Amino acid sequence: MVRTAYIGLGANLGERGEAMRAALRRLSELDGIRVERVSAFYETPPWGKTDQPSFLNAAACITFDRTPEELLAAMQCIERELGRVRHEHWGARTIDLDLLHVDGVTSAQEQLTLPHPYLTERAFVLVPLAEIAPTLCVDGRMVSVWREEVDASGIVRAPEVSAPYPLELIAAVDGAGGIGRAGHLLTDCPEDMAHFRRTTMDGIVVMGRRTMESLPGRHPLVGRTNVVLSRTVQALDGFYTVPDSSALWRLLGQLTEEKERPIFVIGGAECYHLLLPYVWRAYVTRLSGSYDADVFFPSLDGFSMTSSRAGEDCIFEVYERV
Ligand code: ATP
Ligand code: CA
Ligand code: CA
Repeated sequence: MVRTAYIGLGANLGERGEAMRAALRRLSELDGIRVERVSAFYETPPWGKTDQPSFLNAAACITFDRTPEELLAAMQCIERELGRVRHEHWGARTIDLDLLHVDGVTSAQEQLTLPHPYLTERAFVLVPLAEIAPTLCVDGRMVSVWREEVDASGIVRAPEVSAPYPLELIAAVDGAGGIGRAGHLLTDCPEDMAHFRRTTMDGIVVMGRRTMESLPGRHPLVGRTNVVLSRTVQALDGFYTVPDSSALWRLLGQLTEEKERPIFVIGGAECYHLLLPYVWRAYVTRLSGSYDADVFFPSLDGFSMTSSRAGEDCIFEVYERV
Protein backbone atom coordinates (compact mmCIF):
# COMPACT_ATOMS: atom_id res chain seq x y z
CA MET A 1 0.00 0.00 0.00
CA VAL A 2 1.34 3.39 -1.00
CA ARG A 3 1.06 6.12 1.62
CA THR A 4 1.97 9.79 1.77
CA ALA A 5 4.22 11.05 4.55
CA TYR A 6 5.78 14.34 5.60
CA ILE A 7 9.32 14.46 6.88
CA GLY A 8 11.05 17.24 8.79
CA LEU A 9 14.74 17.79 8.14
CA GLY A 10 17.15 19.74 10.32
CA ALA A 11 20.90 20.30 10.55
CA ASN A 12 23.08 22.66 12.58
CA LEU A 13 26.63 21.30 12.23
CA GLY A 14 28.98 21.17 9.25
CA GLU A 15 27.76 21.68 5.69
CA ARG A 16 24.12 21.82 6.72
CA GLY A 17 22.54 22.17 3.27
CA GLU A 18 24.71 19.42 1.80
CA ALA A 19 23.65 17.02 4.57
CA MET A 20 19.97 17.81 3.96
CA ARG A 21 20.21 17.33 0.17
CA ALA A 22 22.23 14.14 0.69
CA ALA A 23 19.53 12.80 3.04
CA LEU A 24 16.85 13.52 0.44
CA ARG A 25 18.87 11.82 -2.30
CA ARG A 26 19.39 8.74 -0.14
CA LEU A 27 15.71 8.60 0.66
CA SER A 28 14.78 8.83 -3.00
CA GLU A 29 17.26 6.07 -3.87
CA LEU A 30 15.48 3.58 -1.59
CA ASP A 31 13.12 1.08 -3.21
CA GLY A 32 9.51 2.12 -2.93
CA ILE A 33 10.20 5.67 -1.69
CA ARG A 34 9.63 8.73 -3.84
CA VAL A 35 10.42 12.29 -2.82
CA GLU A 36 7.49 14.28 -4.22
CA ARG A 37 8.12 17.81 -2.92
CA VAL A 38 10.74 19.65 -0.91
CA SER A 39 10.23 23.03 0.78
CA ALA A 40 12.81 25.80 0.70
CA PHE A 41 15.51 25.67 3.37
CA TYR A 42 14.92 27.97 6.35
CA GLU A 43 17.43 29.44 8.76
CA THR A 44 15.94 28.94 12.24
CA PRO A 45 17.03 29.77 15.80
CA PRO A 46 17.69 26.72 18.02
CA TRP A 47 14.68 25.48 19.96
CA GLY A 48 14.62 23.80 23.39
CA LYS A 49 18.36 23.89 23.89
CA THR A 50 19.25 27.40 22.76
CA ASP A 51 23.03 27.50 23.34
CA GLN A 52 23.91 25.90 20.00
CA PRO A 53 24.38 27.01 16.37
CA SER A 54 21.29 27.93 14.35
CA PHE A 55 19.59 25.32 12.20
CA LEU A 56 18.63 24.83 8.62
CA ASN A 57 15.18 23.24 8.47
CA ALA A 58 13.00 21.95 5.67
CA ALA A 59 10.05 19.67 5.08
CA ALA A 60 9.50 17.07 2.37
CA CYS A 61 6.52 15.17 1.11
CA ILE A 62 7.22 11.57 0.15
CA THR A 63 5.25 8.51 -0.92
CA PHE A 64 6.31 5.09 0.31
CA ASP A 65 5.09 1.50 0.25
CA ARG A 66 6.50 0.25 3.56
CA THR A 67 5.20 0.38 7.11
CA PRO A 68 5.78 3.68 9.00
CA GLU A 69 8.13 1.76 11.35
CA GLU A 70 10.22 0.61 8.38
CA LEU A 71 10.26 4.13 7.01
CA LEU A 72 11.51 5.53 10.34
CA ALA A 73 14.17 2.80 10.52
CA ALA A 74 15.35 3.77 7.01
CA MET A 75 15.47 7.44 8.07
CA GLN A 76 17.53 6.58 11.17
CA CYS A 77 19.88 4.54 9.01
CA ILE A 78 20.41 7.58 6.75
CA GLU A 79 21.07 9.75 9.83
CA ARG A 80 23.81 7.34 10.91
CA GLU A 81 25.30 7.08 7.40
CA LEU A 82 25.51 10.86 7.22
CA GLY A 83 27.54 10.89 10.40
CA ARG A 84 25.05 11.79 13.07
CA VAL A 85 26.91 10.82 16.20
CA ARG A 86 25.73 12.85 19.15
CA HIS A 87 22.41 11.51 20.21
CA GLU A 88 21.71 14.21 22.71
CA HIS A 89 18.03 15.02 22.75
CA TRP A 90 17.44 18.42 21.12
CA GLY A 91 21.20 18.92 20.84
CA ALA A 92 23.46 19.84 17.92
CA ARG A 93 23.46 17.38 15.01
CA THR A 94 24.67 16.97 11.42
CA ILE A 95 21.23 15.75 10.39
CA ASP A 96 17.87 15.07 12.04
CA LEU A 97 15.06 13.37 10.15
CA ASP A 98 11.70 13.34 11.92
CA LEU A 99 8.58 11.64 10.66
CA LEU A 100 6.03 14.43 11.03
CA HIS A 101 2.86 12.91 9.70
CA VAL A 102 1.70 9.80 7.81
CA ASP A 103 -1.66 10.04 6.06
CA GLY A 104 -4.24 7.92 7.87
CA VAL A 105 -1.89 6.78 10.67
CA THR A 106 -1.72 7.78 14.32
CA SER A 107 0.56 6.14 16.85
CA ALA A 108 1.27 6.73 20.53
CA GLN A 109 4.35 4.53 20.86
CA GLU A 110 7.55 5.86 22.28
CA GLN A 111 9.63 4.68 19.29
CA LEU A 112 7.16 6.19 16.85
CA THR A 113 4.65 8.84 17.79
CA LEU A 114 2.43 10.10 14.96
CA PRO A 115 1.77 12.86 14.27
CA HIS A 116 5.14 14.00 15.64
CA PRO A 117 4.46 15.21 19.21
CA TYR A 118 5.72 18.80 18.91
CA LEU A 119 4.64 19.43 15.34
CA THR A 120 1.96 22.01 16.14
CA GLU A 121 4.22 23.94 18.57
CA ARG A 122 7.32 24.27 16.46
CA ALA A 123 7.66 27.18 14.05
CA PHE A 124 10.74 25.58 12.48
CA VAL A 125 8.53 22.64 11.45
CA LEU A 126 5.36 24.57 10.61
CA VAL A 127 6.94 27.23 8.38
CA PRO A 128 8.44 24.76 5.85
CA LEU A 129 5.50 22.33 6.19
CA ALA A 130 2.96 25.10 5.49
CA GLU A 131 4.87 25.86 2.30
CA ILE A 132 4.34 22.38 0.84
CA ALA A 133 1.17 21.22 2.65
CA PRO A 134 -0.92 24.19 3.84
CA THR A 135 -4.20 22.25 3.81
CA LEU A 136 -2.89 19.12 5.57
CA CYS A 137 -5.02 18.49 8.64
CA VAL A 138 -3.18 17.82 11.94
CA ASP A 139 -4.97 17.53 15.29
CA GLY A 140 -8.15 18.93 13.76
CA ARG A 141 -6.70 22.04 12.14
CA MET A 142 -4.96 22.89 8.92
CA VAL A 143 -1.19 23.31 8.95
CA SER A 144 -1.62 26.86 7.57
CA VAL A 145 -3.75 27.73 10.63
CA TRP A 146 -1.20 26.29 13.08
CA ARG A 147 1.46 28.19 11.15
CA GLU A 148 -0.38 31.50 11.58
CA GLU A 149 -0.57 31.05 15.35
CA VAL A 150 2.99 30.11 16.06
CA ASP A 151 5.75 32.64 16.75
CA ALA A 152 7.93 32.47 13.63
CA SER A 153 10.25 35.34 14.55
CA GLY A 154 13.85 34.76 13.56
CA ILE A 155 12.94 32.29 10.81
CA VAL A 156 14.09 33.35 7.36
CA ARG A 157 14.33 31.61 4.02
CA ALA A 158 17.90 30.47 3.38
CA PRO A 159 19.08 31.51 -0.09
CA GLU A 160 20.26 28.03 -0.99
CA VAL A 161 19.05 25.34 -3.38
CA SER A 162 16.87 22.79 -1.55
CA ALA A 163 16.11 20.35 -4.38
CA PRO A 164 18.14 17.14 -4.04
CA TYR A 165 18.73 16.99 -7.81
CA PRO A 166 18.60 20.62 -8.95
CA LEU A 167 20.68 20.28 -12.11
CA GLU A 168 20.43 19.24 -15.74
CA LEU A 169 23.44 18.40 -17.86
CA ILE A 170 24.19 18.78 -21.55
CA ALA A 171 27.10 17.19 -23.40
CA ALA A 172 28.24 16.05 -26.84
CA VAL A 173 29.98 12.69 -26.77
CA ASP A 174 31.80 10.82 -29.55
CA GLY A 175 31.75 7.09 -30.31
CA ALA A 176 34.51 6.49 -27.76
CA GLY A 177 32.84 8.44 -24.96
CA GLY A 178 35.10 11.45 -25.51
CA ILE A 179 33.99 15.02 -24.97
CA GLY A 180 37.05 17.16 -25.72
CA ARG A 181 40.62 17.42 -26.85
CA ALA A 182 43.22 19.99 -25.85
CA GLY A 183 40.64 22.16 -24.11
CA HIS A 184 38.18 22.31 -27.00
CA LEU A 185 35.07 20.57 -28.21
CA LEU A 186 35.77 17.61 -30.47
CA THR A 187 34.02 18.93 -33.54
CA ASP A 188 32.02 21.87 -34.78
CA CYS A 189 28.61 20.38 -35.42
CA PRO A 190 26.17 23.20 -36.34
CA GLU A 191 23.18 20.99 -35.70
CA ASP A 192 24.42 20.27 -32.18
CA MET A 193 25.25 23.93 -31.56
CA ALA A 194 21.66 24.84 -32.46
CA HIS A 195 20.36 22.09 -30.17
CA PHE A 196 22.58 23.32 -27.32
CA ARG A 197 21.42 26.90 -27.80
CA ARG A 198 17.74 25.98 -27.96
CA THR A 199 17.91 23.70 -24.93
CA THR A 200 19.80 26.05 -22.61
CA MET A 201 18.23 29.37 -23.71
CA ASP A 202 16.92 31.47 -20.77
CA GLY A 203 18.46 29.04 -18.28
CA ILE A 204 21.52 29.13 -16.06
CA VAL A 205 24.69 27.50 -17.41
CA VAL A 206 27.38 26.22 -15.04
CA MET A 207 30.85 25.55 -16.42
CA GLY A 208 34.46 24.99 -15.41
CA ARG A 209 37.31 27.37 -16.12
CA ARG A 210 38.56 25.65 -19.29
CA THR A 211 35.07 25.57 -20.77
CA MET A 212 34.73 29.29 -20.07
CA GLU A 213 38.10 29.89 -21.75
CA SER A 214 37.00 27.93 -24.80
CA LEU A 215 33.96 30.16 -25.41
CA PRO A 216 34.43 32.36 -28.50
CA GLY A 217 36.15 35.57 -27.33
CA ARG A 218 35.59 34.33 -23.77
CA HIS A 219 32.19 35.99 -23.97
CA PRO A 220 29.33 34.74 -21.81
CA LEU A 221 26.62 32.80 -23.66
CA VAL A 222 23.91 35.29 -24.60
CA GLY A 223 20.42 34.84 -23.20
CA ARG A 224 21.70 32.68 -20.36
CA THR A 225 23.06 33.35 -16.87
CA ASN A 226 26.68 32.22 -16.92
CA VAL A 227 28.34 30.70 -13.84
CA VAL A 228 31.97 29.56 -13.60
CA LEU A 229 32.93 27.04 -10.92
CA SER A 230 36.66 27.43 -10.34
CA ARG A 231 39.05 27.83 -7.42
CA THR A 232 41.35 30.10 -9.42
CA VAL A 233 39.12 32.37 -11.53
CA GLN A 234 38.36 35.66 -9.78
CA ALA A 235 35.88 38.31 -10.96
CA LEU A 236 35.03 38.02 -14.63
CA ASP A 237 32.86 40.34 -16.70
CA GLY A 238 29.53 38.76 -17.61
CA PHE A 239 30.06 35.69 -15.43
CA TYR A 240 29.27 34.81 -11.85
CA THR A 241 32.21 32.98 -10.34
CA VAL A 242 32.13 30.59 -7.37
CA PRO A 243 35.11 28.79 -5.79
CA ASP A 244 33.37 25.61 -4.59
CA SER A 245 30.10 23.73 -4.59
CA SER A 246 28.70 25.22 -1.36
CA ALA A 247 29.12 28.71 -2.86
CA LEU A 248 27.48 27.35 -6.02
CA TRP A 249 24.38 26.16 -4.12
CA ARG A 250 24.03 29.54 -2.43
CA LEU A 251 24.40 31.43 -5.72
CA LEU A 252 21.94 29.13 -7.51
CA GLY A 253 19.49 29.58 -4.64
CA GLN A 254 19.67 33.34 -5.10
CA LEU A 255 19.40 33.14 -8.90
CA THR A 256 16.28 30.95 -8.72
CA GLU A 257 14.62 32.53 -5.67
CA GLU A 258 12.27 34.76 -7.68
CA LYS A 259 11.61 32.37 -10.53
CA GLU A 260 12.38 28.69 -11.15
CA ARG A 261 14.79 28.30 -14.07
CA PRO A 262 16.59 25.28 -15.43
CA ILE A 263 20.26 24.98 -14.44
CA PHE A 264 22.55 23.22 -16.95
CA VAL A 265 26.00 21.82 -16.34
CA ILE A 266 27.73 22.40 -19.69
CA GLY A 267 31.24 21.02 -19.02
CA GLY A 268 34.00 20.20 -18.93
CA ALA A 269 34.85 16.76 -17.68
CA GLU A 270 35.69 17.83 -14.13
CA CYS A 271 32.43 19.73 -13.76
CA TYR A 272 30.47 16.78 -15.13
CA HIS A 273 32.12 14.41 -12.64
CA LEU A 274 31.70 16.74 -9.69
CA LEU A 275 28.08 17.69 -10.38
CA LEU A 276 26.62 14.49 -11.88
CA PRO A 277 25.34 13.31 -8.45
CA TYR A 278 23.06 16.39 -8.42
CA VAL A 279 21.72 15.95 -11.97
CA TRP A 280 18.20 14.72 -12.66
CA ARG A 281 18.20 14.99 -16.47
CA ALA A 282 20.99 14.72 -19.02
CA TYR A 283 20.93 15.76 -22.69
CA VAL A 284 23.54 13.74 -24.54
CA THR A 285 24.37 14.28 -28.20
CA ARG A 286 26.00 11.21 -29.75
CA LEU A 287 28.45 12.38 -32.41
CA SER A 288 29.23 9.91 -35.19
CA GLY A 289 32.85 8.81 -35.35
CA SER A 290 35.69 9.13 -32.86
CA TYR A 291 37.94 12.13 -32.48
CA ASP A 292 40.90 11.04 -30.40
CA ALA A 293 39.59 12.77 -27.27
CA ASP A 294 41.66 13.35 -24.13
CA VAL A 295 38.72 13.91 -21.74
CA PHE A 296 35.72 11.63 -21.33
CA PHE A 297 32.14 11.70 -20.19
CA PRO A 298 31.25 9.91 -16.91
CA SER A 299 28.94 6.91 -17.12
CA LEU A 300 25.27 7.63 -16.48
CA ASP A 301 24.71 4.97 -13.82
CA GLY A 302 21.27 5.28 -12.29
CA PHE A 303 19.82 7.02 -15.37
CA SER A 304 17.64 5.62 -18.10
CA MET A 305 17.02 6.96 -21.60
CA THR A 306 13.67 8.68 -21.99
CA SER A 307 13.99 9.80 -25.61
CA SER A 308 16.22 9.50 -28.63
CA ARG A 309 15.98 11.45 -31.88
CA ALA A 310 18.17 11.00 -34.96
CA GLY A 311 19.48 14.20 -36.52
CA GLU A 312 21.50 14.57 -39.75
CA ASP A 313 24.89 13.79 -38.26
CA CYS A 314 24.20 12.92 -34.67
CA ILE A 315 21.66 11.42 -32.26
CA PHE A 316 20.02 13.50 -29.54
CA GLU A 317 19.35 11.48 -26.40
CA VAL A 318 17.70 12.42 -23.13
CA TYR A 319 18.30 10.54 -19.88
CA GLU A 320 16.54 10.90 -16.57
CA ARG A 321 17.41 9.60 -13.14
CA VAL A 322 15.36 6.50 -12.31
P1 ATP B 1 12.33 15.49 18.90
O1 ATP B 1 11.79 14.12 18.69
O2 ATP B 1 11.70 16.27 20.02
O3 ATP B 1 12.37 16.29 17.62
P2 ATP B 1 15.07 14.70 18.60
O4 ATP B 1 14.79 14.76 17.13
O5 ATP B 1 16.29 15.37 19.09
O6 ATP B 1 13.84 15.32 19.39
P3 ATP B 1 16.00 12.04 18.53
O7 ATP B 1 17.13 11.85 19.44
O8 ATP B 1 16.31 12.25 17.08
O9 ATP B 1 15.08 13.21 19.07
O10 ATP B 1 14.99 10.82 18.59
C1 ATP B 1 14.58 10.28 19.79
C2 ATP B 1 13.57 9.14 19.55
O11 ATP B 1 12.34 9.64 19.08
C3 ATP B 1 13.98 8.10 18.52
O12 ATP B 1 14.54 7.01 19.14
C4 ATP B 1 12.67 7.72 17.84
O13 ATP B 1 12.38 6.36 17.94
C5 ATP B 1 11.62 8.53 18.59
N1 ATP B 1 10.49 8.97 17.80
C6 ATP B 1 9.19 8.89 18.18
N2 ATP B 1 8.37 9.38 17.27
C7 ATP B 1 9.13 9.82 16.24
C8 ATP B 1 8.82 10.44 15.00
N3 ATP B 1 7.56 10.70 14.63
N4 ATP B 1 9.86 10.76 14.18
C9 ATP B 1 11.14 10.52 14.57
N5 ATP B 1 11.49 9.93 15.74
C10 ATP B 1 10.50 9.57 16.58
CA1 CA C 1 13.73 16.45 15.90
CA1 CA D 1 14.73 13.02 15.56
